[in-house]
Amino acid sequence: MSETFGDPMTRPFWAAARERRLLIQQCEACGAHQFYPRPHCLACSSLGMRWVEARGNGTIHSLTIVRVPVTPELVPPYAVALVELDEGPRLLTNLVGDGFAIGDRVFVQWRERGELPPLPIFAAAKDVAHGSP
Ligand code: ZN
Repeated sequence: MSETFGDPMTRPFWAAARERRLLIQQCEACGAHQFYPRPHCLACSSLGMRWVEARGNGTIHSLTIVRVPVTPELVPPYAVALVELDEGPRLLTNLVGDGFAIGDRVFVQWRERGELPPLPIFAAAKDVAHGSP
């Protein structure tokens, strides 16, 4: 099935998300990784970008707890974090669980959204049976 969610730049990401695979871009010229997707490399401006699968491991770079309702799908309090993947790019995401601190190791999980592709969220690496490096 071809993906219909997103735009031409993000469709491969969402198609992989349906398979619970986290894709990021890698530059074919210099090897740099980046997220979110762009038509060019942020490091060297090459237009030769390919999709690669991230390992799913990362570290909490920044973190805040949301205590007011913003959207019906998210009941406060919940954690919003900037997670730095081991490959380098940072994702703005949610954390599942509690007791997090900056510097904690986390691993990707997926939040189901019915017909829409799932969203990548993160849990403590120690709580994910297969994810700890
Ligand atoms: Zn590059």
